[in-house]
Amino acid sequence: MVFACQNDSYARKLPATVVSCSPAECQVILEGKKTKVKGYEVILDDTILFPEGGGQPDDRGTIGSSEVLRVTRRGAEAVHFVRDPLAPGDVVEVTVDWCRRWHHMQQHSGQHLITAILDQLYGFQTTSWALRDTVSFIEIDAAELSRDQLEAAERRANELIREARPVRVTVHQPGDPQLAGVRARGLPDDHTGAVRIVSMEGIDDNMCCGTHVSSLAHLQAVKLLQAERGKKGRTNVHFVAGQRLLDLLGETAGREAHLNTVLRCGPAEHGTILDKWQRSLKTSQRACRQLLRQLAQAEVARFRSAAPPLGFLSVHQPAGDAEFMATVVSLLDDETVLAVVTVGGERLMDDVINSYYFAPAWSSGGRVVSFATCWQESMMAGRTSEMLREHLEARDAHLGMVWLLPYHRNGNHWALYIVAIASKTIVYMDSLHLRPNRLDIAFI
Ligand SMILES: [Zn+2]
Repeated sequence: MVFACQNDSYARKLPATVVSCSPAECQVILEGKKTKVKGYEVILDDTILFPEGGGQPDDRGTIGSSEVLRVTRRGAEAVHFVRDPLAPGDVVEVTVDWCRRWHHMQQHSGQHLITAILDQLYGFQTTSWALRDTVSFIEIDAAELSRDQLEAAERRANELIREARPVRVTVHQPGDPQLAGVRARGLPDDHTGAVRIVSMEGIDDNMCCGTHVSSLAHLQAVKLLQAERGKKGRTNVHFVAGQRLLDLLGETAGREAHLNTVLRCGPAEHGTILDKWQRSLKTSQRACRQLLRQLAQAEVARFRSAAPPLGFLSVHQPAGDAEFMATVVSLLDDETVLAVVTVGGERLMDDVINSYYFAPAWSSGGRVVSFATCWQESMMAGRTSEMLREHLEARDAHLGMVWLLPYHRNGNHWALYIVAIASKTIVYMDSLHLRPNRLDIAFI
């Protein structure tokens, strides 16, 4: 069946009769997430909502007041997945989400045009293509496409757009001699019945089920952004056509203006400045690592030379990182010593903190657990620090492993769990209840 959207791709509304409506489930993308939704499958006597095919995604729109979340093709029928039920026999108005469809038409016709040009100029055949949300790509059977070739193809495409060559769709029955020699990649594998040929005047004839612009002028312009190595020794040619090209240029200009402010230079210097920044960042990071290593050595040396000897090693370094913690532990190299190493300042966010938990814990060989908290700094500086020290000193120095788990912090109030693996206990400490509240919970 040739649907109304294929006869007239510019139709935005269509009265149609509901043929059937049955309850169904469908996986749809809602707010960027794949979600299984309960709804109804509706078949109409005809539709202007394009079911996906030939590389073109399906349309969105409404049937009556019911939102269409998905349109698929089942044999010769278009199946509309809607949220609300519709009554068979009812005449309803079908409306297409024109913005989405227009973008798809421009990219799809743009693909036909570029495919034809790459074939005519260089003999490269299109093996597949993908219509993406912003930039689409055409896969060609060539190991590479040079910058010059890419630019020449783009120039030719825009020349033809300026000539406003007409684009016509004709419908042919199987066996029609006119079908011989026509590019045939655009049809679904299970296609049966009448075949559409999309012809760009004097350029290309292509069997295709998609919706197309009626004149190349409606493409406005196409940009071939880049050619990059694809799968199986092929090349992907990235392109964008029409309104999406204007949208992309608008976004790019916005980002560029932002970078001008951040980098304090014009677009031509962005690359140079960033290269310079990157080099100086690497130098600073190297210096920082060396300084932190020296700090770690100083902390361990101070611990070793303390008289009388300290019961345990406690280090907090706001500028430290996981590597600093692991360095302290490895320099200490004494299984009989309990060490509590913390890093991080007030501005560290919880997810950053969480990422610190494991690396030093395991790299210390299970002797010591250290981690960062955003409030450790203030905690270690105040009276709670004393309490923590007393508490840890009173405990078995051969704990083996102690985890401090920040539980929450609200203003000056904080709470944490101290988890001792060897004794299988969890101690809950809270700034509002200064006596540690020991919970003997077997947790392993
Ligand atoms: Zn096509």
